[in-house]
Amino acid sequence: GVILYRNLLRPLCIEVMIVQRVVLNSRPGKNGNPVAENFRVEEVNLSDSINEGQVQVRTLYLSVDPYMRCRMNEDTGTDYIRPWELSQVVDGGGIGIVEESKHINFTKGDFVTSFYWPWQTRVILDGNSLEKVDPQLVDGHLSYFLGAIGMPGLTSLIGIQEKGHITAGSNQTMVVSGAAGACGSLAGQIGHLMGCSRVVGICGTQEKCLFLTSELGFDAAVNYKTGNVAEQLRELCPAGVDVYFDNVGGDISDTVISQMNRNSHIILCGQISQYNKDVPYPPPLPPAVEAIQKERNITRERFLVLNYKDEFESGILQLSQWFKEGKLKIRETVTNGLENMGAAFQSMMTGGNTGGNIGKQIVCISEETSV
Ligand code: NAP
Repeated sequence: GVILYRNLLRPLCIEVMIVQRVVLNSRPGKNGNPVAENFRVEEVNLSDSINEGQVQVRTLYLSVDPYMRCRMNEDTGTDYIRPWELSQVVDGGGIGIVEESKHINFTKGDFVTSFYWPWQTRVILDGNSLEKVDPQLVDGHLSYFLGAIGMPGLTSLIGIQEKGHITAGSNQTMVVSGAAGACGSLAGQIGHLMGCSRVVGICGTQEKCLFLTSELGFDAAVNYKTGNVAEQLRELCPAGVDVYFDNVGGDISDTVISQMNRNSHIILCGQISQYNKDVPYPPPLPPAVEAIQKERNITRERFLVLNYKDEFESGILQLSQWFKEGKLKIRETVTNGLENMGAAFQSMMTGGNTGGNIGKQIVCISEETSV
């Protein structure tokens, strides 16, 4: 009788908090298109106590990024990221607020970020895995730390600095593929800021083209889904292409490379058109295009932002300064709710059903920025 009595009381005595998380439900396969159903939402209990060195955080924003596609495979094909495991919580770039801290670096109310943030509404993390961020850098737009004033912004800035060979005043023409996305929308603006005289974007809808030219200052834009890219580029880049910020690879890049000048430079940012295929990274160019690349001495070096950690701090300050001066326009498309993480990821990978995905794709988990 006593035991029964205790068990009945237990739910009242122990405080457990129920939280939601997203786990990997299935893998799309190396040659498959990822879909929302590859993810599943679950409820779990969050412990009511945290240990020394730990921090309890509430998730505010989560990021969906193309590199995650290789985390969906059993083998990522790279040594710098691990695969997501089936039925285990998914993780990626995230930002949140500290609700409770037993770590010396953090106090309640701090805003923190991590590249390995679990897709979970609230979570207890090792404080050493977190980094504090200063909301002033983004004028309070915390999600920008996952985009323009974060990893994608650094990718565009450092990629251009390291691999672009832009010299102000030398009349260079830059072409950007994936131009309306997180990296691309910044890369074109940074190209102008660093001194390119002409910047042309390539993207997948008319709406995106209009956004590039009317809001971001691109000189022209090409919709690769409707137009003849080769013909339009020849018209829009009469002096040829000097710098190519490549986000997509495949046919689009073959076309751009064919119009590049001698001693010009490719910033090999990504090859998203090849991510649902079982090919090595970077994918080799078709022989005829490779011949052009070699013959014209066009550089195409592998670029990985994570290899430039020493430049992150100064890069963030530079991006923040440009943003505050109004020189860098930032756009994001925000989806609401943890249950929509999978759909947001699928939509980011395809450019959006109706082409409305402009800028960085963000999922808002909670907007409450006080504790
Ligand atoms: P994003 O551009 O915001 O989103 C992906 C976009 O790719 C989609 O919106 C879609 O736009 C386009 N796309 C999808 N499939 C395509 C296809 N078959 N052909 C042409 N375009 C296609 O993503 P992001 O985060 O800025 O990443 C852009 C690229 O940078 C990716 O390749 C990513 O892997 C790479 N990246 C590299 C590093 C690095 O360290 N090297 C770091 C971050 C990101 P449309 O509507 O225009 O088709």
